[in-house]
Amino acid sequence: MEREIETKCIHLEEDEASIQHFGSISYPIYQTATYAHPAVGQSTGFDYSRLQNPTREHLEKVVASLENGVDALAFSSGMAAITMLMELFAPGDHLIIDSDLYGGSIRLFDHVSTKNGICFSRIDCAREDVEAYVQDNTKAIYVETPTNPMMNVVDIAELSAIAKRHGLLLIVDNTFLSPYLQNPLDLGADIVVHSGTKYLGGHNDTLAGFLVTGREDISEKLRFLIKTTGAGLAPFDCWLVLRGIKTLGIRMDRSQENAMEIAKWLRAQKHVTKVIYPGFEDHPGHEIMKRQSRGYGAMLTFQVENKDFALGILGKVRMIRFAESLGGVETLLTYPTTQTHADVPKEIQEKNGLTDATLRMSVGIENVKDLIAELDRVFHEIENGQ
Ligand SMILES: *Cc1c(COP(=O)(O)O)cnc(C)c1O
Repeated sequence: MEREIETKCIHLEEDEASIQHFGSISYPIYQTATYAHPAVGQSTGFDYSRLQNPTREHLEKVVASLENGVDALAFSSGMAAITMLMELFAPGDHLIIDSDLYGGSIRLFDHVSTKNGICFSRIDCAREDVEAYVQDNTKAIYVETPTNPMMNVVDIAELSAIAKRHGLLLIVDNTFLSPYLQNPLDLGADIVVHSGTKYLGGHNDTLAGFLVTGREDISEKLRFLIKTTGAGLAPFDCWLVLRGIKTLGIRMDRSQENAMEIAKWLRAQKHVTKVIYPGFEDHPGHEIMKRQSRGYGAMLTFQVENKDFALGILGKVRMIRFAESLGGVETLLTYPTTQTHADVPKEIQEKNGLTDATLRMSVGIENVKDLIAELDRVFHEIENGQ
């Protein structure tokens, strides 16, 4: 019987046949750059840590099992993973990308990939006809769902059908939901991207990134690239992410429950003009998510009446921190127009509905009563001009 994901976060079934590493329950950190060879032409299975390290290999197997992939590769950050991913493409290739992506991905595509001769059509994959943008040189479709920060939802299975009809790769950045809530490979994606810095690591204490694939041919290309380009995750950071993943299930459950409570509370506030949370039944992507995900996540975006109110919130929060990033146990608020999305051109920000009164919240696992009490205090202080 296939094990449930909470169990797969903690145990790697293939390791259970024998007691290894002196019975160590926590996987050891192999802090080594290189490995002794028993004889000429022989190897312990490890030669040099840029190629592979046992701690990294263990983490990669865990992440591959969570995403139901054949292979996963761990990188020093999410952006390192995406940067290497782009090495699958050559000058003259064209990619269809969603217009509402993580700001760092947009910066990479605009300033690095474009310089390398790759071109892009940036479209709203939730609302536009994606197939109409396929050209002779199109090689891939690249999306996030739900998107960052506008929480648009794209139908992964539908995009996969388009990708298959035209021989394109479908690449899905699954950072926002984590494998606990969504498995794009099962819906037809070819490659899954993760910023392991977020829910997988889960504690805002390390950077990490992953590429996961269900295809042997892609795995082979990515393995060649990681050993050649050298951005593999260091052993200690691998261990931190392994430790984080053990509690992924209970962290996602709690933070998602909290997010729903906070979304409802925000929606009832008179100074809040809009709350975007796909867990709401009237969210345009709600039905698609019900089909393709096991939950709605713990990210929400809201708009207040004006910029001053937004800045007031950021200035007055104390337990909730004003910081970029997401997916950790701590609740964080970000201001996308100057932080994560500062490099996104103004007209695209406007088209996506991103304004200077938009805030994004990554809801953590604190007791939700304390989170709401903090927000209530902040809202009252702003109202009273304190
Ligand atoms: C943070 C993030 C990234 C980049 O990951 P880093 O680990 O910060 O390099 C990519 N995609 C999404 C959706 C993210 O949230």
